[in-house]
Amino acid sequence: MKIYTLGHKIPDSDSICSAISLAYLLNQISYEATPARQGELNPESKFILDRFGFDEPILKTSYAGENIYLTDHSDLAQAPDDIGQSHVVGIVDHHKLGDITTNAPLECWIRPVGCTNTIIKQMYDFYHVNIPKDIASIMACAILSDTVMFKSPTCTKEDKKALNELAKIANIDDPMALGLEMFKVKSAIVGTPIRELVLRDFKDFNMSDHKVGIGQLEVVDISLFDKIEDDLFKDIEKLRLEGDRDSVLLLLTDIMKEGSKLLVSSKDESKIEKAFDKKLQNSRVWLEGVLSRKKQVVPFLEKSYSTT
Ligand code: MN
Ligand code: MN
Repeated sequence: MKIYTLGHKIPDSDSICSAISLAYLLNQISYEATPARQGELNPESKFILDRFGFDEPILKTSYAGENIYLTDHSDLAQAPDDIGQSHVVGIVDHHKLGDITTNAPLECWIRPVGCTNTIIKQMYDFYHVNIPKDIASIMACAILSDTVMFKSPTCTKEDKKALNELAKIANIDDPMALGLEMFKVKSAIVGTPIRELVLRDFKDFNMSDHKVGIGQLEVVDISLFDKIEDDLFKDIEKLRLEGDRDSVLLLLTDIMKEGSKLLVSSKDESKIEKAFDKKLQNSRVWLEGVLSRKKQVVPFLEKSYSTT
């Protein structure tokens, strides 16, 4: 069976690497799988593919009539627009269960771990398929990226175990050094157009019928944003109005200080203040210890939106 593997819109390294690692696995177990992507690669993903000698997954945004296996998402807002006309064969994901439904039975690998590639490692073990060295390398990179080098509260023992085993296969002696190299690539923001930064890792959510967009930029030193913070703020206001959104939030995450500065553009800031139980100052607030959008931001916002 011909099938495409693909991660979410505005793909991150987990979405890109999981499309590749899952396609390889499926190709060993009787599918004819092609890795795909729904958007442009970010600098970190480019770095990973260059470093380990992979081509970019093909760019494909329409899947009507195709078989697809989704990775790293189960929300309609992050899936292809015409997913309703495609056949979803499977989902492998580590987010909250989204709103994608199917009209035929599907294979689901959804687990509360820190990275989709951790689950795909478990799939390889389940099917007794050996992981090639280069595939193990990019899977390890995805785990380092998604778990913020194990610092994120989303990181589990299983992620650490998977990374250790993958690093062994890939002959990576010092995974944390590789992780730091990746986050330094991510931190190279000087000279990048503001809108590109805002959208680099951006997701729209439907929260009780309110459209809420949340972006995140992870760097090794938050002072990198000092000169452009006001421009970023102005741009999220613009983005909110352009997209008819209720709110746009941008997390500026310092992975060394382990916290995030939140910039807020909202029709009703009190919803955001209620979510975090913090007063905004000039539409901004520092959130100590917050590294994870999925675990430390989205659930609290959804709760706040559902009760106001
Ligand atoms: Mn992702
Ligand atoms: Mn992920």
